Amino acid sequence: MRKIGVVGAGFSGAVIARELALNGYEVTVFDSRTHVAGNCHTERDKQTNIMTHKYGPHIFHTNNEYVWNYVQQFDKFQPFVNRVKSVYNGRVYSLPINLMTINTFFEKNFNPKEAELFISSISDKAIHNPQNFEEQALRFVGKDLYEAFFKGYTEKQWGLSPRELPASILKRLPIRFNYDDNYYSSRFQGIPENGYTHIVQKILEHSNITVLLGIQFSREQSIEFDHVFYSGPIDSWFGWSHGRLGYRTLDFKKEYHSGDYQGNAVINYGNKDIPFTRVSEHKHFSPWEQHKETIIYKEYSRLCGDEDIPYYPIRLNNDKGQLLKYIELAELEENITFVGRLGTYRYLDMHITIEEALQAARAYLDCQKRNNKM
Ligand code: UDP
Repeated sequence: MRKIGVVGAGFSGAVIARELALNGYEVTVFDSRTHVAGNCHTERDKQTNIMTHKYGPHIFHTNNEYVWNYVQQFDKFQPFVNRVKSVYNGRVYSLPINLMTINTFFEKNFNPKEAELFISSISDKAIHNPQNFEEQALRFVGKDLYEAFFKGYTEKQWGLSPRELPASILKRLPIRFNYDDNYYSSRFQGIPENGYTHIVQKILEHSNITVLLGIQFSREQSIEFDHVFYSGPIDSWFGWSHGRLGYRTLDFKKEYHSGDYQGNAVINYGNKDIPFTRVSEHKHFSPWEQHKETIIYKEYSRLCGDEDIPYYPIRLNNDKGQLLKYIELAELEENITFVGRLGTYRYLDMHITIEEALQAARAYLDCQKRNNKM
């Protein structure tokens, strides 16, 4: 039986491990942390029994029916619509920017057509081809909405001027001229009843899979395997020989309260002088459960240090230059595939991670078949 090593027990590693195990491979999965599911890890709080998203809010959403059906095998998904609010100058607004946001912010009573014309009249039409986050925002919503909802939040989140960030980050958020306040536009949306860690445990449940937690995989161990799928940071695999890729990390300040703290799962804060970016109230991610107490996480973003957990790849030009050098090194490696958010240094949602993991496993299996190694 061919032996496969998988480094990282997040969605990437778990899905690849399962696909290969189902095809008769003997798979060992390593993770340096003592739990599976990576940054999607969820856990019931010991004091309140509330399911907490330990590394920040995760709402599953996808247009890919195959991926949606794939995850349903491992837990029941409850319908969940993320209706994010944003506080700016002490007032609360609806996100993503929609007709309610526009009407409350400008104290108007616009219908969709009027709102569209109004936003077009305040947008910066001199910008034809937005080159960065700020230009993209000014082009599509104008200065006032940009400053209220995007500028301060983005400076806190990325520690950079929005002029230095790619327009693609803002393209994640829609702007709507109706009252639809669903943060995502995806066809399928939900949250697993028993949390993401339960799902990843289920994915890894197979007699051909061994999971070793709390273990730092070293490059030298690769010789024990016919192939390694690596979902750790690509720069760490190469001993940071071309320098460290930039990441943002998050700190969460946890508080217990009684009752309902903020009446919603996620509230963002647009003002720069409020040091946290958002507050998540975890029991609202499981509205089908009843809890008298509540847990909130105030979320603070900062540059990721050597010992911190990496969250968001910054991907500035110098990072991209380094990344290209690491990709060149990766191409020289034999019998190793770099996968996932850290392995490929990209800002990936869960559904994309799963889709790409299924593809990586399929590509490997096809290649083995062609070479008659099965
Ligand atoms: N963003 C913002 N204001 C908000 C929410 C998001 O300016 O209230 C910007 C910010 O730069 C953020 C990006 O939009 O990094 C993507 O937001 P999303 O909510 O998708 O971020 P995630 O939940 O992945 O942290």
